[in-house]
Amino acid sequence: MHICLNDKVFKTLSEVVTAEEVKAFVIGGWVRDCLLKRDHPEKDIDIVVIGNGIEIAKKSARRIDPDIKVSVFKNFGTAMFKWGNFNIEFVGARKESYKRGSRKPVVENGTLEDDQKRRDFTINALAISINKDTFGEFLDPFDGINDLKKKIIRTPLNPDRTFSDDPLRMIRAIRFATQLNFSIEAGTFGSITKNAERIRIVSQERIITELNKIIVCDHPSTGFILLEKSGLLRIIFPELDNMKGVYKKEGKAHKDNFLHSVKVLDNISKHTDNLWLRWAALLHDIAKPVTKKYTQETGWSFHGHEYIGSKMIPDIFRKLKLPLNENMKYVQKLVDLHLRPIVLSQEEVTDSAVRRLLFEAGDDIDDLMALCEADITSKNETKKTQHLENFRYVRRKLKEIEEKDAIRNFQPPVDGDEIIKTFGIKPGKEVGLIKSAIREAILDGIIPNEHDAARKLMIRKGKEIGLTPSDDST
Ligand code: ATP
Ligand code: MG
Repeated sequence: MHICLNDKVFKTLSEVVTAEEVKAFVIGGWVRDCLLKRDHPEKDIDIVVIGNGIEIAKKSARRIDPDIKVSVFKNFGTAMFKWGNFNIEFVGARKESYKRGSRKPVVENGTLEDDQKRRDFTINALAISINKDTFGEFLDPFDGINDLKKKIIRTPLNPDRTFSDDPLRMIRAIRFATQLNFSIEAGTFGSITKNAERIRIVSQERIITELNKIIVCDHPSTGFILLEKSGLLRIIFPELDNMKGVYKKEGKAHKDNFLHSVKVLDNISKHTDNLWLRWAALLHDIAKPVTKKYTQETGWSFHGHEYIGSKMIPDIFRKLKLPLNENMKYVQKLVDLHLRPIVLSQEEVTDSAVRRLLFEAGDDIDDLMALCEADITSKNETKKTQHLENFRYVRRKLKEIEEKDAIRNFQPPVDGDEIIKTFGIKPGKEVGLIKSAIREAILDGIIPNEHDAARKLMIRKGKEIGLTPSDDST
């Protein structure tokens, strides 16, 4: 019995496939992660069957529990069902061959080894038999176990062939290298560099899935640096690729913005698993290349890059096929505000500047502060300590003002209804004018964030624009 098959699920599956007289194997991620002793939150089990995968999936499900729902993907020849924590997916072993004159692969039934050949990497092609008489037997024709030991990503076939069949595998190689902390075997990496252009035929949906998997790794910079080195980044994410290089003029140099961005991404990843905060970190300086300017007096500057950057994001999200929803708005907001705490820490901090920042950042203020701290990539320890100390001061100020004025979830102390009732007017421009006068006065610290003070200001402002309060409201 093999340790990877300890769970009772394998005993049941073994009974079914043995009774059905088909050969079946656990293959891919489950075997790899088990040998690496990786703890996987999602428990996906891939079973390859020498025969009809869909049939066996249905029969297994029926034996386990007749009420289990089996999802069938006829086009892919696969079927899956959930059992407890497990997602069990079945596929018939396949062979890939090319008809002359056609670039589309013809998929035929095949042997286990045929199927292993069309897998992406040797470490993903490991199979273990689950039939009764051979239960636990290992089938590893490409020496994947050795690659697991050596921590190497390598294709089972000639890499040009593997990558040409499905170019997404080039990004997957980089994703697994980043996720598992493996290196990509030289020939395999050389082939990625050579075939990078072919990534253009892959759908953006598949690409972004892999890119997001890279971003949620512990050290996502590894993946982005490999994407850059291989030439893939230039094709799949030109705006990020555009950031590389050190700007130099008259002996004045500005740091490589690409390396800085991926370092900030690594830094934030120590603090959060929030995919969107990680995206914000990666994109915070995205407008530096388009805003860069050099003058003799001031050297390099990137005026307005935070604002221009936030405006670039919808376009980037659309092209990358990231969702155009509140997550995108959140990223835009963080990019737009990412310099504000720095400015606050450099100038004398006024209460009203702090209130304005709290008002604009709202509940995302903590994420914004985390981003700013991650943005410190200086190698100069004294500078670093100084910046961190400044941010600690800003955080103290934020806390103090928030406790006093409760701006973070700002709700106007006098609302539109009250304005309408007081002056007996219809909803319209005047209501907006009075509301914003109240908000500005609170943010500027002219009045406290309280109802009575706001009401007084409302009456005064209303009179100024020619409104008369009803008798009982003064
Ligand atoms: P994880 O689920 O952690 O991302 P995994 O190895 O399970 O890793 P999946 O994408 O779930 O990856 O795929 C399951 C298995 O299917 C892989 O281990 C591999 O054998 C095979 N596979 C997946 N995608 C491809 C592909 N594009 N080309 C070749 N084989 C693939
Ligand atoms: Mg999987």
